[in-house]
Amino acid sequence: MLHGTVQGLPPYSGVIAASTPGGRPVNWAATGRLGGVSGPPYESLNLASHVGDDEDAVAANRDILTGLVGATGVAVTGSVHGADIALASGPGEIHGIDAVITQTPGLAVAALAADCLVLGLVGDDEGTVAAVHCGWRGLVADVTGSAVAALRALGVGVQHVVLGPSVCGHCYPVPGERADDVRLSCSAAVADAALLTCRDGQPGIDVRRGVLARLAELGVASVTSVDACTAEQPDFFSHRRDGVTGRQGIVLVR
Ligand SMILES: [Zn+2]
Repeated sequence: MLHGTVQGLPPYSGVIAASTPGGRPVNWAATGRLGGVSGPPYESLNLASHVGDDEDAVAANRDILTGLVGATGVAVTGSVHGADIALASGPGEIHGIDAVITQTPGLAVAALAADCLVLGLVGDDEGTVAAVHCGWRGLVADVTGSAVAALRALGVGVQHVVLGPSVCGHCYPVPGERADDVRLSCSAAVADAALLTCRDGQPGIDVRRGVLARLAELGVASVTSVDACTAEQPDFFSHRRDGVTGRQGIVLVR
């Protein structure tokens, strides 16, 4: 299913073949810090408009992104750590949502983060793709389940899911109450997968492992996971590590 990479965005990118004869393949990429025009502390491929970076630089970086995956424009989540979803038919940032779906050919969708998990969903039809932002609050709010349900409500199954980079559970210690929120809100399988004990004895949340368990519950079996920890790898933006910083993203286009 995965063959080749998108030129210029190595190594976390790929092409997902269409599930139907004559259908359009999906280009996806999970970006990092490299390849953009922003200056410190947003150097260089910052995709977020809300972190204090120069607006023109962000716009140029988004143009770089759409060019790299061969899109005509990109619809971006303006995330609020909830589970609301928008259906986009044109480019721009949509505030107040954590998942964006499009069925418009050539329009990319993107979700941004700097430690939270970003996911790309590929529909099993001719044209649906979605991008999702999910941190610990998204795990509690079940934004993953909401996004899969939104596709299914459109009559579209999930062919494949790509998980971008995120902070790992050992780099994400949390207060006990936050771990309790996960335990109370999520299924036992999701909570067991997401919760761990960090090396210092504090509880930790591994959102990637929680989302993988949630996808299994939802019957989504075909998953690509970029197993990179944003806090450990300097080529990614990490809010936990750097404080004021940029945002990377996952982007998909069909
Ligand atoms: Zn880590």
